[in-house]
Amino acid sequence: MKQIGILGGTFDPPHIGHFIIADEVKYACGLDEIWFIPTNEPPHKRKATSTSEHRLHMVEKATEHTAYFKVKSMELDRRGTSYTIDTINELQEKYPTFFFSFIIGADMVEYLPKWKQIDELVEKIQFIGVKRPNYRLTTCYPIREVNVPLIDISSTEIRKRIETGLPVQYLLPKEVYSYMKEHRLYETS
Ligand code: ATP
Repeated sequence: MKQIGILGGTFDPPHIGHFIIADEVKYACGLDEIWFIPTNEPPHKRKATSTSEHRLHMVEKATEHTAYFKVKSMELDRRGTSYTIDTINELQEKYPTFFFSFIIGADMVEYLPKWKQIDELVEKIQFIGVKRPNYRLTTCYPIREVNVPLIDISSTEIRKRIETGLPVQYLLPKEVYSYMKEHRLYETS
């Protein structure tokens, strides 16, 4: 049975934290592939700053040299609010023999009780939780915890740094940095 780890996110922009946790979880759990699924409209977070096309392209560019990283645009294609239960139903129908695990950072864990059909979702997939600075990984739902280096980087912080002219080059994969510069993403003027 093929083991797939899913990393859903706004990726606004994707940063090295995303790829570090993806790689760590893949090796720790013996997964075959990690599928990056950019969210169209997250139910529990603010809307993205960059368009879905830019966010998708940035994730594609960052992953294109890693054979076990794949990108699925299904949530962007579905449009509207992105619910993980809809994504999992679609994936399980399309790939009935695959086993899916969903990776979440500790900041997302507190929202789990509010996720659409969460009780059904925890029956269908495994959740894998990773630590994040300033957040606790405690929840009443079953989550497999994987130890990753604590990475104090977020997309919010990167957007703020760009706005104020602080350096971000080494917080992002170089392909993402070039794409962002080329399209002047997150710059105010
Ligand atoms: P924002 O700051 O815009 O809210 P973000 O940095 O949290 O963005 P997302 O694209 O929303 O990035 O994150 C996708 C997934 O990756 C989420 O499960 C999130 O918890 C996790 N994640 C992102 N950054 C880190 C990090 N530095 N350490 C651990 N997990 C992370």
